[in-house]
Amino acid sequence: MKLHTKITLALILGAVAGVAAHLLASATGQTWLRDALVWIEPIGNAWIRLITMVVVPLVMASLIVGTASLGDITKLGRIGGKTVAYYLCTTAVAVSIGLLLSNLLAPGSHMDPTALQNLRSTYIAEGASRVRMAQQTPGLKDVILDMIPRNPIQAMASGDMLPIIFFSIFFGAAVSVLPGERRDGVIKFVDGVNEAAMVMVHWIMELAPYAVFALIGAVLARFGADVLKSLLVYSVTVLLGLALHVGITYPAALRFLARVSPVDFFRRVREVPLIAFSTSSSNATLPVTMETAEEEVGVSPEVSSFVLPLGATINMDGTALYQAVATMFIAQVLVGHLSLAAQLGIVATATLASIGAAGVPSAGIIILIVVLKQALPASVDPAAGIALILGVDRILDMCRTAVNVTGDLTAATVVARSEGETLKVRSGGRRARPAA
Ligand code: ASP
Repeated sequence: MKLHTKITLALILGAVAGVAAHLLASATGQTWLRDALVWIEPIGNAWIRLITMVVVPLVMASLIVGTASLGDITKLGRIGGKTVAYYLCTTAVAVSIGLLLSNLLAPGSHMDPTALQNLRSTYIAEGASRVRMAQQTPGLKDVILDMIPRNPIQAMASGDMLPIIFFSIFFGAAVSVLPGERRDGVIKFVDGVNEAAMVMVHWIMELAPYAVFALIGAVLARFGADVLKSLLVYSVTVLLGLALHVGITYPAALRFLARVSPVDFFRRVREVPLIAFSTSSSNATLPVTMETAEEEVGVSPEVSSFVLPLGATINMDGTALYQAVATMFIAQVLVGHLSLAAQLGIVATATLASIGAAGVPSAGIIILIVVLKQALPASVDPAAGIALILGVDRILDMCRTAVNVTGDLTAATVVARSEGETLKVRSGGRRARPAA
């Protein structure tokens, strides 16, 4: 059986077991299945640790080799410019889809007052703790300044992706100008590290089905389905937005910018969103994203080693779309309608805020506070807004993370193609008819 089939099967089995455990506990009071699933959750967490362990060596080694063997450093500037422009555009499209749907479906006007009261009283303390966390997260200006590490070892130790990227590119550029033999020696060594990291990824992926079962089973066993009921229209709005973005924006980019077949692309990369869905973390998924881009899509290591780590950190279409819907929902419940100007403000802030969100579980809801503060009147307490949506956040986090990584892979494909690379994905452009 192929690995992605095993992972899909594990996901389905985990979901069935989790839902069954939840129903059993709420209908008959028997909690043994739920306890068993929660008990095996550490298997999933251990796997997330394993794959996260590879992130720093893999990103550094592949970026250093990529930059050092590029030969022409201006190429990196060109790739960088295209990547950031593409990321900003697709994120702004995602936010706009979120806003459009929130206006059409008005999820905040369907709320039952008792359900509202329940949500508020259950989650207000947790909401306030997220606001405190948000106060500790750096603003955009600091994020840009913090890209330059004072100490690269410290950045590696804490897994801060942007300073790691900055240092690796700088170091790689320095290696590229060393005299022949010295340069080749460094490249050979770092390339070996890179290959060993990829072997580790292969090994760890063999264990993925067990981890996926454990993670999904535990999340669903714990999840309160009643919360989902009261936030159904809100959740459906987010999910519909994500589906439209994956179903329209990405295929359009793949077909018209990369000129490849979207169907073949999605068939080749399907393992990546499954892992992102199960782990809720773009960072933990990064080794799988890089391996898939290179081996399944055929993106060159130079492009994938730059575009994907950057994407896992700054490109979060799913998160930005979710932030737009969440802000509109909270506004509709707490203050009524938002003006067009305020909504245009959301396009800018949600796009920038998603850049500041780290690729780890629940980062999106903490950064959401920045968007709420900008969009809502000062009299509204952001904690009260967060309390409304916290109950379904984990489930929506899984879905938006799957979209985030798909966006990164699409970007790598588009950028690789614009650099004239030949990909493994079937061509999607119109082929010339053979002469009769
Ligand atoms: N979990 C998301 C990610 O890793 C970020 C978020 O919370 O939206 O991409």
